[in-house]
Amino acid sequence: MLRPLPPGKEAVTARIYWFRNDLRLLDNRAFSQACSASSALLPVYCHEPATLTRWGFERTGPHRQHFLAATLADLSARLRERGSDLLELTGHPAEVLPPLLQAVGAQELACEEIAAPEEQQAVNALRAAGIPVATTWQSSLLDPSTLPFPPASLPEVFTAFRLAVERGGIRPPEPLPIPARLPGLPALPAAALLCRAPPRPLPAAPASGSSSFPYALPSFGGGETAALSHLERYLGRKLAHTYKSTRNELAGVDFSSKLSPWLASGALSARTAYAALKGFEAQHGANDGTYWLWFELLFRDYFRFLHLKHGSRLYRARGLGEAAAPAHDAQAFTQWTKGRTAAPLINAGMRELAATGYSSNRMRQVLASYLVYDLGCDFRAGAAWFESMLVDYDVYTNQGNWLSIAGRGTDPRGGRQFNLEKQTAQYDPGGQYRARWAT
Ligand SMILES: Cc1cc2nc3c(=O)[nH]c(=O)nc-3n(C[C@H](O)[C@H](O)[C@H](O)COP(=O)(O)OP(=O)(O)OC[C@H]3O[C@@H](n4cnc5c(N)ncnc54)[C@H](O)[C@@H]3O)c2cc1C
Repeated sequence: MLRPLPPGKEAVTARIYWFRNDLRLLDNRAFSQACSASSALLPVYCHEPATLTRWGFERTGPHRQHFLAATLADLSARLRERGSDLLELTGHPAEVLPPLLQAVGAQELACEEIAAPEEQQAVNALRAAGIPVATTWQSSLLDPSTLPFPPASLPEVFTAFRLAVERGGIRPPEPLPIPARLPGLPALPAAALLCRAPPRPLPAAPASGSSSFPYALPSFGGGETAALSHLERYLGRKLAHTYKSTRNELAGVDFSSKLSPWLASGALSARTAYAALKGFEAQHGANDGTYWLWFELLFRDYFRFLHLKHGSRLYRARGLGEAAAPAHDAQAFTQWTKGRTAAPLINAGMRELAATGYSSNRMRQVLASYLVYDLGCDFRAGAAWFESMLVDYDVYTNQGNWLSIAGRGTDPRGGRQFNLEKQTAQYDPGGQYRARWAT
């Protein structure tokens, strides 16, 4: 329940904090700055109206809707424990936030910066409506200002980026603590609550037992509380030591860190994950498993910095390349989404994705390669399907990986076509994965 300040206690410096993909209190630089600069602060989240992609399916599928609802419930509870609250609104930010700022007498809107075209358009639309918006970059592990090159000179190959970071001894900043004091809420006139989100009807929870990321279980549920417990549990079981040797498996809860849904929603920051990993190494020793987790988190950063360098060019049909726009076979694409292709491994992977919202990194690569190279479809349709289905959808990582598989990103070696027979023999030799998702 939102508890307004009593009349006559309106604050002098009022702000609205717009939570985006940073749904946490720990190590949230943008939120911490807004807290220390405001005498009253209204935290809000905007549910964008449900939309269809240009390919004709819903943009945010049931898995992420479910995970997001749990994430927001946890964020609200954590804010309330500290004397604040979360106002959930439904509507486009440029439509619902300006009247709210006016209604509560807020001078500024603060939020994290997201360097992807649609997310930037949302901020531009607010600015065009006369709203002062203060954005803060915070979703990467490394601070871009500490890199040995400006984002515009980011190496075009990940390995060159990683070596420059490692040779330069560049390390992430320490995570920030939760602000010691959260400002009170500004007085909320009834008009400010008109766009309040009605409770969302949620899809049924998945059959947890069959999922590699069983988000219906509280321990895998959305939100910062579950994220921090999961991180502690993962490291406590010393699974980081075996990460490199298990990370290419197709199914199970332990073969990889399973941090992605919390990282993508921002319930967990990459810096918090990294600091915990370093603590683990100090206590239990570093090995190739712990190194490889750093490597993957750096890979996540690389796609973020690629957006700082190339921006909307990454979203062109031809990506960064010069080749013609990709062809598309709408019928083959539909068969792929339904898991009804000629390839049993692909069918299993697509059914797992649709049923659970999660897919291993190995399967994602194989599924993407098959769509682009075997079915001759547009990689953007595949990226949109993953956006709809994945519980851990992340704009930078999804676009970056699809571009790289399709050979339309930065890698001068071109795309990555996976040999299905080889992949099947290597990763599902006994056919258990195919059998599990046969129907
Ligand atoms: C076509 C395709 C689309 C993808 N879309 C997404 C997406 O929308 N959201 C997403 O989080 N990941 C995406 N990935 C990357 C990767 O598959 C997932 O991050 C990983 O499978 C999540 O499981 P995990 O947390 O157990 O990963 P782990 O193997 O434990 O890795 C730890 C963390 O490192 C990062 N990471 C791992 N692999 C990659 C990678 N290939 N690229 C960038 N960062 C990586 C993730 O943040 C991950 O949580 C995609 C990969 C492909 C091939």
